Amino acid sequence: MKITAAVVPARSAPFEIHTLDLAGPQADEVLVRIVASGMCHTDLHARDGYFPNLPYPVVCGHEGAGIVEEIGASVADLAPGDHVVISFPWCGDCEPCRAERLSYCVQARALKSSGRRADGSFPMSRDGAPVYSCFFQQSSFATFAVAPAKDVVKIRRDAPLELLGPLGCGLQTGAGAVLNVMRPRAGQAIAIYGVGGVGLAGLMAAKIAGCDPIIAVDRLPDRLKLARELGATHALDSRGAETLAEIRKITGGGTHFALETSAVPAVFRIAVDGLRGLGTCVLVGSARAGTEVDLFMAGRMPLDRLITRYDFAQINRAAADATSGATIKPVLMLPD
Ligand SMILES: [Zn+2]
Ligand SMILES: [Zn+2]
Repeated sequence: MKITAAVVPARSAPFEIHTLDLAGPQADEVLVRIVASGMCHTDLHARDGYFPNLPYPVVCGHEGAGIVEEIGASVADLAPGDHVVISFPWCGDCEPCRAERLSYCVQARALKSSGRRADGSFPMSRDGAPVYSCFFQQSSFATFAVAPAKDVVKIRRDAPLELLGPLGCGLQTGAGAVLNVMRPRAGQAIAIYGVGGVGLAGLMAAKIAGCDPIIAVDRLPDRLKLARELGATHALDSRGAETLAEIRKITGGGTHFALETSAVPAVFRIAVDGLRGLGTCVLVGSARAGTEVDLFMAGRMPLDRLITRYDFAQINRAAADATSGATIKPVLMLPD
């Protein structure tokens, strides 16, 4: 079938919108009409060549949400018309996968960034020439995508798809780190280092868990302001000379938990030094959580505050705004 997709033609080149051919789903896959796709820095890293095995031209996008159009022959638990979010890929056979630690799959890197399925094939092409895809086994910067049925999460039909795409990656990572890994008790002190999409999702989760104080640490005043509105009790500049001392003062000796999302070594240092004895610092990896949809629908997790919508044709502007920090979480709206 013909699809419209954003192609990265070569390393570090801007996205280009093209008409491509997409092959139908394999037996264990579904074809999804993408309604919206989050954009993450991971997509920009892929564009810019940080994944050494990713070939070009390639279609990125790994936070797709949409409606199942067609199912493969062996897919039993999904049907056309289902609303879905496409999450991260996992092999199902390795030791972590068999222990249900799916986000630690040993094949994850190849499945995310080889541009191919596990069997080496890929479903997109342009005028008969290869276009690599299968980015995170989805390549959701396109009007349609094929994805393994097991990676797809069915959601309520009344839930807004354009807000839920980012749950597939960044937001479940932040919220999952707090709710599934830290499991804080009400009244425990947490500091969130870096309040972008991942950090703010963690912050909202900390609020749901009843953490107090909740200290947001970032260098961007706008983000600290938003963090306050979303539940931070304190907001500190990560570059301040007194930041560590202030954290110790606010918490009476240090935080119980630190969520480090900034990837800045000096900030990681504060995150660890700002802990009290037996405190826990979590560096975000990828954690699976299934509860955020319901939390969002109950009005307890205002994801919409993190999101800025862009028309698909504005993909390069969305990328620039993500890079500058002007937008916390760009979401691309795909044309019908
Ligand atoms: Zn991501
Ligand atoms: Zn695995």
